[in-house]
Amino acid sequence: MKIYYDFHIHSCLSPCGDDEMTPNNIVNMAQLVGLSAIALTDHNTCGNCAATAAVARELGITFLPGMELCTAEEAHVVCLFPTLQAAQQFEAHIVPTLPPIPNRPDIFGEQLLCDAEDQPMGTHDILLTTASGISVDNVVRLARSFGGTAFPAHIDRPSYSVTASLGGLPPLGFAAVEITKNGNVAELAARYPEIVGKPLLQNSDAHHLEDIQDALPYLELPDNSPETIIAALNGELPCGWHR
Ligand SMILES: [Zn+2]
Ligand SMILES: [Zn+2]
Repeated sequence: MKIYYDFHIHSCLSPCGDDEMTPNNIVNMAQLVGLSAIALTDHNTCGNCAATAAVARELGITFLPGMELCTAEEAHVVCLFPTLQAAQQFEAHIVPTLPPIPNRPDIFGEQLLCDAEDQPMGTHDILLTTASGISVDNVVRLARSFGGTAFPAHIDRPSYSVTASLGGLPPLGFAAVEITKNGNVAELAARYPEIVGKPLLQNSDAHHLEDIQDALPYLELPDNSPETIIAALNGELPCGWHR
């Protein structure tokens, strides 16, 4: 079956995420544009995943809890998990490595926690966009140890990508990579032969509701369970893809 996906979406908990990126708004927009599987990937936190999972369950959309981890090298890596519990256990591993720098909402924006009714439950006070203490060498192993998967975000961007931060794409164990909508796949494949033969994911990296992408890129998989999607992104299952 074709699984129309968007595995990189920010909520109002990311300081750069619009305040309208609430659990209900995100899932309803995903349903409106025809997506069948989404992930919530705020910077270094899974704080709004429980509420978003509850809304997605109600609307029958596959939901993968996750985060966009900022590694010690300032490279963004999207980490996804099959269950809320696994995502929260991963998060508990990340949180102690974050520098205790308070957020400055006037500069960076609010970091809003919501419940499943989109009601504010408070704010996250530590700035979430800083580099964690997790090295990029360890991300794949760590995410998989919690039953999850990890892929490098926006490898064609000149900042906060593995390629920009490391000056290339060394073999780090990634079985899939994310390329932005406008990325030139042929050019990237010539520059980074490591990506050839892997699913090249196209996600929205939405920070605003209207950025959530239309149902165009898809994975071809036997079913749309989180476990099957994660196995495919880990290279453990043959996976057709189109972007
Ligand atoms: Zn990023
Ligand atoms: Zn992002």
